[in-house]
Amino acid sequence: MIVNKTYNALATAWKGLALTLRHLFGSTKKREVAPIKSANYFKELEKGTNTIQYPKQEIPIPEVGRYQLDVEIDDCIVCDLCAKACPVDCIRIESIKATEAIGQTSDGSTKRLYAAQFDIDMAKCMYCGLCTVVCPTECITMTNQYDRTVRHLDELTYKFSVMTPDEIDEKKVAFEKQQAEKLAAKQAALQAKQGGAS
Ligand code: SF4
Ligand code: SF4
Repeated sequence: MIVNKTYNALATAWKGLALTLRHLFGSTKKREVAPIKSANYFKELEKGTNTIQYPKQEIPIPEVGRYQLDVEIDDCIVCDLCAKACPVDCIRIESIKATEAIGQTSDGSTKRLYAAQFDIDMAKCMYCGLCTVVCPTECITMTNQYDRTVRHLDELTYKFSVMTPDEIDEKKVAFEKQQAEKLAAKQAALQAKQGGAS
């Protein structure tokens, strides 16, 4: 019984040691980075050092990888669909109505809203990609950038609006003025109608 236990303990210890030695001597050469589509991709991971010489070497990522979000703000129609679809509520959008059409996106959609705020808190994002699926102009995308390092947490809130505070105020005032003028014109037309009827 004791002999069996001793044998098992030695056999187990030898297996562990053999594994350690295999990796120790296998780690003497630099690990090569295999193309992601290589049939031997996972076998290649077993050769050489366990780590790569990042950033000189980088592990290739799949074409459909979901990493940092990006927004092509010129193509955004500020519809808010991405923010509504986000399960963790990490997209904050504030829109301002324009007094008239303000241009077109690259897919021909008419823009009628300004993006006063378009923030994405990547610290909260769970990289589900739902926001990219619902976007009608395909302007919010997941990029292949995965190594975003920051010193402060708030730097992970990406800001895509390009409007200055003065521009935001100016557009708000212009819209309110237009609404007031429309209302005044409507009231004047109503009064004229009532005056004509009496
Ligand atoms: S990827 Fe998912 S969690 Fe991240 S912003 Fe888009 S919808 Fe929200
Ligand atoms: S869904 Fe697309 S177009 Fe709509 S607000 Fe989001 S990024 Fe802009």
